[in-house]
Amino acid sequence: MGVEVEPKSASQPGSAARPPLVLVLLGPPGGGKGTQAKVLVERFGFQHFSTGDALREEVRKGTELGRQAKSIMEAGELVPDELLGELVRARVGGLRSGQGCILDGYPRNIAQAGYLDAVGQGAEIRVLNLEVPSDLLVKRLSGRRFCSNCGKIYNILFSPPRVEGKCDVCASDLSRRKDDQEEVIRERLRVYEVQTRPLVEFYGERPGYLALDGSGEPGAVSEKVIAAVGNWLR
Ligand code: AMP
Repeated sequence: MGVEVEPKSASQPGSAARPPLVLVLLGPPGGGKGTQAKVLVERFGFQHFSTGDALREEVRKGTELGRQAKSIMEAGELVPDELLGELVRARVGGLRSGQGCILDGYPRNIAQAGYLDAVGQGAEIRVLNLEVPSDLLVKRLSGRRFCSNCGKIYNILFSPPRVEGKCDVCASDLSRRKDDQEEVIRERLRVYEVQTRPLVEFYGERPGYLALDGSGEPGAVSEKVIAAVGNWLR
């Protein structure tokens, strides 16, 4: 979560001559963006910027931004664009030649996509859309649990821990995100349909866009994701 690493080698996300790569992971809540982002970080050494993780961290630290975002997030709504603009500008604007950064959860509306185009001038923007049917999204989100200590993610329906409620790795208690409660899940999916889905058309007309079926097992989806990104990096 919020992992940031340097590229493992200059030849992976690109040679030094290559412009910075911004890889937008698009898809609904529960679509597997966070899971696949971690795989891509591991495989290609990209930086990873999850706006949701960044906001949760601000809430945890009790900053002014966290204070403004908390109730909005708990209701499943989008925080105002201007609260995230500076964070995104710093991340994207700070990329050097040959570096790559995954944007996980940004942009989430057309205005944010326009902002990304503006601050990402000079970078190569690629978009991978993970498509998942909504009944599966509800199962993934309502079953999702995470270790309150090490952050490992489980799903009590698909990938439960060995001991109920306890992390396999560190035996700490598992928690549920506040916005993974059923009524908030429904609102998040509604917000996705209204505000975020229009991005599929926005980006779909561009050359650097690819849609993948994200409904399989995480490992099977990862294979497709790695192949697609590897192809882009060639
Ligand atoms: P996520 O972890 O990506 O599901 O994000 C959790 C919550 O953070 C969302 O439901 C929103 O309230 C907020 N959030 C994350 N990214 C954005 C964004 N790009 N624009 C507005 N709100 C966001």
